[in-house]
Amino acid sequence: MFALQNFINGKLQNAASGQWLENIEPATGKAYSRIPRSDAQDVNAAVESAKEAFPAWSKMPIEQRSACLLRLAEAVGANAHDWAEAEARDNGKPVSLALAVDMKRSQQNLAFFATAIQHFASEAHIPSGPEHINYTHRKPIGVVGCISPWNLPLYLFTWKVAPALAAGNCVVAKPSEVTPMTAFLLSTCIEAAGFPPGVFNVVHGLGPEAGEAIVTHKDIKALSFTGGTATGAHIQRATAGSFKKLSLELGGKNAAVVFADADLDQALQTTIRSSFANQGQICLCSSRILIERSVYASFRDRLVEKAQRMVPGDPLRPETKMGAVVSEGHRDKIMGAIEQAVADGGKVLAGGSLAAAPNERCAGGYFVQPTIIEGVPELCDLNQQEVFGPVISLMPFDTEEEALSLANSTAYGLSATLWTQNLQRAHRVAAKMDTGIVWVNCWLVRDLRTPFGGVKSSGVGREGGFEALRFFTEPQNVCVQL
Ligand code: NAD
Repeated sequence: MFALQNFINGKLQNAASGQWLENIEPATGKAYSRIPRSDAQDVNAAVESAKEAFPAWSKMPIEQRSACLLRLAEAVGANAHDWAEAEARDNGKPVSLALAVDMKRSQQNLAFFATAIQHFASEAHIPSGPEHINYTHRKPIGVVGCISPWNLPLYLFTWKVAPALAAGNCVVAKPSEVTPMTAFLLSTCIEAAGFPPGVFNVVHGLGPEAGEAIVTHKDIKALSFTGGTATGAHIQRATAGSFKKLSLELGGKNAAVVFADADLDQALQTTIRSSFANQGQICLCSSRILIERSVYASFRDRLVEKAQRMVPGDPLRPETKMGAVVSEGHRDKIMGAIEQAVADGGKVLAGGSLAAAPNERCAGGYFVQPTIIEGVPELCDLNQQEVFGPVISLMPFDTEEEALSLANSTAYGLSATLWTQNLQRAHRVAAKMDTGIVWVNCWLVRDLRTPFGGVKSSGVGREGGFEALRFFTEPQNVCVQL
């Protein structure tokens, strides 16, 4: 069976313990490769090599650091077709999506921060009053940890490591053990891209083992984490008192609010995508669709009709639009959430069951029908807890105030989508959303310069653009008497 390896101090290597974990293909339910089951020994080795590499890397001219990242971006582009297939196999997502979204964005992330760092200058205040000047150095932090989830594997992995490296830090990164393949493939290109040994280390393994060793390592001074809210809370507790910088991008329970004055055709097209893209496993997916009562029935019926026509297929087939969910455990969690919603009074309008395997190859795979449920009370789990699967809840509303109250009623605050052609309402409602991101008449449109992240239980801090470069640097202010 194909064996992935860690990349530490410029070398591909097995876990020091010699232990392995099985890597399962979600579409078949079968193990198809194995990954190093790393622990603190491997993380310690990675941190030591990163510490050694830091002085030279952080002093290297920005153009040279940038060139390494650009070469890595080129490697993603050159391998995009093969790596998209690897991503689809590892994660269960359709290969077409992996190519159009995951590979494209991974390449862009690396290229974007390779160039962003060239425009990221220290600030100066001249004069600061009649007798002083102030300037603020932005210094790289040292060794930083990057921990990413399984839903957008290479996309979110590169979203973290690119700004960290561009800013002059050395990195110890851990992809999700559920989808380790593309981070491994990327690690096979790090040396050829020109990164000196120790600058960019990739350690595979379980969260409570390799992940925990990164989180608690005393020489890792900043941690960028994307994953579940419970894990984020654990990391906050585990690092309390250590004064590490933390960026936590966590779960969501995002509302799409459809006003009667919206372009309803456009709203419908996009809501199908925002609900079920990547099998609903995007932190920004809409999972609560709030619809103004006067158009509720017709919008609901059209949504249901479209969802019923979506049939999960083999992720490796080019025509597949919806694939498998990521794991057996996750499939069971999704089915449990549907059962609970029904017990809470919900009516299943579409889906609600496991989907048939699309072919013989996928007989043991994890396929769930796109599911639409209505009638679940506002405070029940389906409207409050993240499912992170192809399951949405529909709720009618009568007034703008009611829509806002429903939208803001959860512990989460990642994103919201508004559908209205009333310009004043769009601005008014957007400003009152308790979320880090609001889309108006669109969804998942990302300008990489804009701040990305959530409020409340959806996280702390912002990624994207200069926000990420600020996170991965430590400001030092110098005040000079003239
Ligand atoms: P997860 O929290 O289980 O795991 C995320 C990563 O953390 C993995 O690499 C895992 O190995 C590691 N990890 C787990 N326990 C750890 C520990 N004790 N110490 C250190 N690391 C640990 O999340 P997941 O199931 O992989 O991802 C799904 C979640 O991610 C969802 O809640 C989703 O909303 C969220 N997510 C958020 C964003 C965002 O930008 N806000 C983006 C994508 C996904």
